[in-house]
Amino acid sequence: MPNRAEDVRLIHVLREAKVLVNVDGRKLNAPNGVIPIVCPDCDQAADIDGHIHKLLDESGGRVRLHSLKQHGGGMLISEACPLDREFSIDRYLLKHIGVARSLKDINTIILFVHAPCGAAQLEGLSVVEILYHVVEAKKRVKGMWPNDLISCYIHVDYANEKKRTYFLSRKAFEQWFAENNGEQYVKHMNQTNGFDSGLAPAAELFIHPTSPFAPVTS
Ligand SMILES: [Zn+2]
Repeated sequence: MPNRAEDVRLIHVLREAKVLVNVDGRKLNAPNGVIPIVCPDCDQAADIDGHIHKLLDESGGRVRLHSLKQHGGGMLISEACPLDREFSIDRYLLKHIGVARSLKDINTIILFVHAPCGAAQLEGLSVVEILYHVVEAKKRVKGMWPNDLISCYIHVDYANEKKRTYFLSRKAFEQWFAENNGEQYVKHMNQTNGFDSGLAPAAELFIHPTSPFAPVTS
């Protein structure tokens, strides 16, 4: 399904508000590659991966993509994201980010979402709700690995052969959200998944503290 007209309108509003800005790979610090968390959408994968390659090229870092692909992408790590809650996919992805960063010595994590995303549409999520969850995901990942760089991006297919990837500014999004009653667009807020409400417990469920995959806790 194409983007809803309301979502296209909101994307334009967020562009104007400098929440979604043009990508500048020179600002990315990824000397050893990236761990992208992305939706596997087969109609967008070549374009999304191409944009990540270009981003890495521009950054001057090594072009290594250790991608974790699940329907919905980076937003799945938000505790309140309704997609695949019954499978605790947020904790599954957190575990595998830990494994990937340790095995491959990568400390740059990219949380990628896209629109239109079929998995998000099945749950009736607006584009603002997708961005809300990916920002929540960023905060959660940053809490586990505070020294890592966590960047968020959204890929947009405008359905007229025009596809773009934008950098999502967390600070600008939170300001826009607060000033524009962003809650009206988000059905799933302030919810936990019933397993953990913090960061350390999520890690402990999967990763023994002495494991080389354990997150930084100090
Ligand atoms: Zn998708």
